[in-house]
Amino acid sequence: MSAQLDSYLEGSWQSGDGSARPLINPATEQELAHVRSITGSLASAVAWGREVGGANLRKLGFGERGALLKQMAQVIHEAREELIDVAVQNGGNTRKDAKFDIDGGTAVLAHYAYLAKSLGEQPWIVADEATEVFRSSKIRAEHVLVPRHGLAIHINAFNFPAWGMLGKAAVSLLAGMPILSKPATSTAWLAHRIFRLLLDANCFPEGSFQLLMGSAGDLLDQVGPQDVIAFTGSQGVGNGIKTHPRVVASGARVNLEADSLNAVVVGPDVESGTELFDLVIRDLVVEITQKAGQKCTATRRVLVPEATLESIREALLERLAEVASKTGDPSNDEVRMGPLTSKDQLDDARAGVATLSKDAEIIHGDPDRRDGFVGIEPGTGCFIEPIVLQARPDKVGDPQASFHNHEVFAPVTTLLPYDGQLASAASIVALGSGSLVSTVYSDDREWLAAAIAELGPYLGRLVVNNEKFANASLSPGCVFPVANHGGPGRAGGGEELGGMHGLSLYMQRVAIQGGASQLARLLGK
Ligand code: NAP
Repeated sequence: MSAQLDSYLEGSWQSGDGSARPLINPATEQELAHVRSITGSLASAVAWGREVGGANLRKLGFGERGALLKQMAQVIHEAREELIDVAVQNGGNTRKDAKFDIDGGTAVLAHYAYLAKSLGEQPWIVADEATEVFRSSKIRAEHVLVPRHGLAIHINAFNFPAWGMLGKAAVSLLAGMPILSKPATSTAWLAHRIFRLLLDANCFPEGSFQLLMGSAGDLLDQVGPQDVIAFTGSQGVGNGIKTHPRVVASGARVNLEADSLNAVVVGPDVESGTELFDLVIRDLVVEITQKAGQKCTATRRVLVPEATLESIREALLERLAEVASKTGDPSNDEVRMGPLTSKDQLDDARAGVATLSKDAEIIHGDPDRRDGFVGIEPGTGCFIEPIVLQARPDKVGDPQASFHNHEVFAPVTTLLPYDGQLASAASIVALGSGSLVSTVYSDDREWLAAAIAELGPYLGRLVVNNEKFANASLSPGCVFPVANHGGPGRAGGGEELGGMHGLSLYMQRVAIQGGASQLARLLGK
């Protein structure tokens, strides 16, 4: 029997009593570990986190909490090689993919540790300047942020077990809210290993960080009005959480980070032979194949001007063919892309490609390929090669078209030819019903400025690329802690990270109203 990964609740490791759920290596299908869900009530763990964890955390000032985040980042960085190995085995990650997840988590911790230094040592953050409540009044109003007195329930997706858990934890702990973190089961080994390292190194006060393995059990039935639920995962599960009767009745705060049909828009002036053209192709290859396309920020729709369709298509397919020939066992250094994380994901991906094929033609890749993966026996593992489809012209602007409605969580994208007009691009992007990120490429400043106004309402983040900065550009799917992560509509309507703004999810904004001098004295200015 494989090792069991237990939950850590109420200050001790606790074995679940549900049936064993295996965690596999998706390249070899070998079982690595298993988890058992806790079938009893989680009421006391939730209460313990709120009371013990909340009180212990709020005893510390922002500076001390920031110092803990710094320590967490150091502990993880020191164990980086071991953690990469876990991600390669259980996540199907190449070494590069694993670093993206683990270093991404460390970077968020380090960023919020740094930010803590500017927050002062009051138990609140002053959010703005005191303002007269009306002209010539002696009374002022000013807003402060104070940590909520509840539990932050973090439910994470399978694709970023490190960054997902640590990104949420960094912000929550700095804000002063204790956490109960639930990793997605299929890839939970990495989150579990990181948690154990942090616990053993005394990185957080008692009660302020609990780990729940397996299913969520009756967690949502325990939610109270001061709690925050931060969920990352599919739209369906997210909506179920948001509309859960106890969650609705309690008025708990809910932040959803869900599906996204991220679009890239290639401007009409981007020509073959330029650095900007090369950047388009380089970014597309990364955003289709990194983590085998299992990224919420991966590119799912590519709007290409009809005039440059041939050149972009040719360059992209050539580069993807190289990746297809180097798809296989992620522990092999030659391999550029590993498998999907489970057979379920593979089945979903194949079914998803079949759905997209109703409105688009496959122009690259075979979703049913079962052999020729590097270092893998034919028929073994959860592999799929990069797939590119091209939309049928009559479907590009059709709101019902599958590529505007169905996220295939795999290395799969669809090319959408358009006329090069920004207005046309904006109306096509909008059909995705809200996304995490879009990227636009052009040297035409007016065209780019129009993109901000026209695409902005449908996005959480817009990456603007031109020839001048092509060299310095960073891959658009990479989420930096200073920038907002989240998107409207289908993407869940959530907002995470974004520097200081991220803290507000876990804090209550209170208007303090009183005499000018009194406010200044009370707020310690
Ligand atoms: P998922 O199936 O929705 O699961 C997400 C999490 O919810 C897992 O921890 C899962 O636990 C848990 N869960 C499932 N049913 C639940 C319930 N009834 N009550 C409470 N929790 C429940 O998503 P996934 O397959 O892990 O992740 C892929 C999806 O996540 C994709 O659609 C992707 O777009 C999205 N995603 C979005 C972002 C973003 O930032 N917007 C980032 C990453 C991924 P178990 O694993 O134990 O079932």
